[in-house]
Amino acid sequence: MENSTQRQLAELKAHLREVDDLRSVGSLLAWDQATYMPEAGAAARARQIATVEALAHEKATAATVGHLLDALQPYAETLPYDHDDAALLRVARRNYERATRVPTSFAAEVAGHVTESFSVWAEARPANDFARVRPYLEKTLEFSRRYADFFPGYQHIADPLIDSADFGMSAATIGPLFEELRQALTPLVKAIGERPQVDDSCLHQHFPAAGQRAFGEAVIRDYGYDFRRGRQDTTHHPFMTKFASGDVRITTRFDESDLGGGLFSTLHEAGHALYELGIDPAFEGTPLNEGTSAGVHESQSRLWENQVGRSATFWQRYYGDLQRIFPEQLGGVSVEQFYAAVNRVEPSLIRTEADEVTYNLHVIIRFGLELDLLEGKLAIADLPEAWHARYVESLGLRAPDDRDGVLQDVHWYGGLIGGAFQGYTLGNIMAAQFYATALAAHPEIPAEIGQGRFATLHGWLRTNIYQHGSKFTASELLERVTGGPLTLAPYLHYLNTKYGALYGLREERGRP
Ligand code: ZN
Repeated sequence: MENSTQRQLAELKAHLREVDDLRSVGSLLAWDQATYMPEAGAAARARQIATVEALAHEKATAATVGHLLDALQPYAETLPYDHDDAALLRVARRNYERATRVPTSFAAEVAGHVTESFSVWAEARPANDFARVRPYLEKTLEFSRRYADFFPGYQHIADPLIDSADFGMSAATIGPLFEELRQALTPLVKAIGERPQVDDSCLHQHFPAAGQRAFGEAVIRDYGYDFRRGRQDTTHHPFMTKFASGDVRITTRFDESDLGGGLFSTLHEAGHALYELGIDPAFEGTPLNEGTSAGVHESQSRLWENQVGRSATFWQRYYGDLQRIFPEQLGGVSVEQFYAAVNRVEPSLIRTEADEVTYNLHVIIRFGLELDLLEGKLAIADLPEAWHARYVESLGLRAPDDRDGVLQDVHWYGGLIGGAFQGYTLGNIMAAQFYATALAAHPEIPAEIGQGRFATLHGWLRTNIYQHGSKFTASELLERVTGGPLTLAPYLHYLNTKYGALYGLREERGRP
């Protein structure tokens, strides 16, 4: 590499590191808002986050970034596609081109607005007060449509929003995939509904939070979550956040009358954290130092939550530990009963607590509503009723109020409308593809899980997925790791096999 190239690359990296520092400061402010900040701090926090976002956006879109990227282009062209510098320059250019479309004033205004909107929603949800958030949501929809307009030439107005979370995806690619999935899930949900239901009353006793926390943290330690590089706090709406390679935090919430909620949130967020912790430390401070897409990220949280944490072999190893923490509650419950309870399938109202089979129907409802809102087919005023109608149609249920209806998810109140939900289902599909590939390479993984050993699985995921950060796009990663594109077959096979056994469904179900 020539001296001038070396100097320009160092200059670019130093500049991008400052952008990363500012974004990390913004994330820290948001983490604090969701964990420890007193409510009265909300207005100032919205302003502070907007200020930091304005600085970050200004720096990210500075002309000097464009000049350095142009100057380094000839160097990038000499490199193999998977060279770290080639990936850095590729991703930095993609981010730069996207960010420069959006004026700094707009980015700051949105950041301030969604922070405020989040605070209003946090009060409106327990109060079941949709009218309170309605003007905020109307403004959010307007911002979302304006955001899309910065990317003229899109096919669907949701595409720029989808693309910013799941690069390479669009309404046209996701729509048919989700429809195919919906058509496969509906008969499975129906067949399960016709079988005797699993009794999950063992999960709904009194479980003091301290014991729940101790158990969950012991499990994620075994998974490989390093508490010297992270911590777990409680919040209303669990999430993972990263400030640096050495500081990847998770949050959870404990409900003392529901053992599953807190535990599976912990396992889920730990999955997100393992991905971030596993990225090559050499990428620190660069745009490569984060998971590559919402879908791939979710594939990792769901894999550790479901493929591992809701598996029979997992509970053979861990159920005794849980019984020792809660002897009165679980002493008389067998491991088979407990395994069935944590996998009970039943149409329900709350997405985050939904079982693996019905979960995607919740996501498909949100995705459809997002498209209708952005297209202007659905007004915010009519959203609560549209929500109820979709639930009745897809899940046969109607929430008694808006709290468990349109107010339940944080996303539209803490971010733009569009691009927020498809990643959840893409993640479920990819998790099955990745896990099937890992099992083919290492058939011993389930037996190891049964012994509380996760090093083979964790190592395989780190080597094949985590270490690369954003170096490869989701579709490149799928192709490299599984040898093929995004496909439903492994996911449907996983669901049909697991739940067919659990609910005693006939083998030939679903075959032509
Ligand atoms: Zn997640």
